[in-house]
Amino acid sequence: MWIDTHCHLDAAEFGGAQAQIAAAAAEQLVKWIVIPAVERANFAPVAALAAQLPNCCYALGIHPLYVEHADDSDLLALRAAISAAMSDPRFVAIGEIGLDFFVPGMERGPLREKQEHFYVEQLKLAREFGLPVLLHVRRSQDILLKHLRRIKVGGGIAHAFNGSFQQAEAFIGLGFRLGFGGAMTFPRALQIRRLAVELPLDALVLETDAPDMSPAWLHPATNQPQQIPRIGAVLAELRGMPAADLARATAANACAALPRLAALA
Ligand SMILES: [Zn+2]
Repeated sequence: MWIDTHCHLDAAEFGGAQAQIAAAAAEQLVKWIVIPAVERANFAPVAALAAQLPNCCYALGIHPLYVEHADDSDLLALRAAISAAMSDPRFVAIGEIGLDFFVPGMERGPLREKQEHFYVEQLKLAREFGLPVLLHVRRSQDILLKHLRRIKVGGGIAHAFNGSFQQAEAFIGLGFRLGFGGAMTFPRALQIRRLAVELPLDALVLETDAPDMSPAWLHPATNQPQQIPRIGAVLAELRGMPAADLARATAANACAALPRLAALA
């Protein structure tokens, strides 16, 4: 069995075909698809998808690229949504949260301050409710780590991880797993491939980030969660191990990172 730890199944790119897409993934033995929220307006849609589809679960949070148009009332709405979702077994994490210092204009000034404010407040919610977090990490590893050392949460997943070994080890030391997906399937992605091969197996989870981050054989077409086994096969080959063992190990890692998912599985 496989787990897609990060898939925006509610995205407009999928039209109304979510049920078929989730079923196609289930046919490829993708037992669970984790759907993170990105803004207040999609808290209810991601929860509804998880309620309707047998292999889907969800997270609630405000994504750094949606912070610009959010305000503190959205944090209050998030807290209320989390509080209500604690009785829903399909609710598994806080996310997607984090910092994006790649997009021009977001790495400094008021937008950077606002991003850090939303990130810190959401870490506090994760700590309050005892939930893991799904992190968006883009050129922001060290600042993300700085706040994680201060506000202790129960680990989670650093999604689409790209960084140095030292940064990877710091996340792992704080109880995080690292998400690998389509980017790893490009032979020229040397640093990501080096991380995927040399980091300990128990630190790795798989993700599509669909509809984004299409693997090499699909690029630039829309990514889908049914690609997980083929992405996993690339990682298995890079690490020189059978794909079935890699599937088992990464699924177990996802369950360790997301205890409420483990309770479902
Ligand atoms: Zn995402």
